[in-house]
Amino acid sequence: MRSGRWNSSASGSRNWRVRTGFALRASAFPTHRPVWGSCGRDGRILLNWRLMMLPPHLVDYVAAHELAHLRELNHSPRFWDIVSLLYPDHRSARRELNALASTLPDL
Ligand SMILES: [Zn+2]
Repeated sequence: MRSGRWNSSASGSRNWRVRTGFALRASAFPTHRPVWGSCGRDGRILLNWRLMMLPPHLVDYVAAHELAHLRELNHSPRFWDIVSLLYPDHRSARRELNALASTLPDL
């Protein structure tokens, strides 16, 4: 699957671009790895296409998580402070994401 623009209407890249100034792209990840997104040192953010099978608010959480990595390339308290600013209810979203992840079919 080729990389392409993320077109979810509920949590589209335009929304995040307006809020943070950064653009998002969706891409394919190997399905055997439970990776929802990644942020490279070059500032490129990739999102797992399987997020399309999840509720839009969880897509927003993953997007917020990866955008926070543009400032902190770790999971330090400072990183979670940034996530909290972008997505205040991140703890419950994370729990929900972990619970739903095991229910998704492997394609
Ligand atoms: Zn992370």
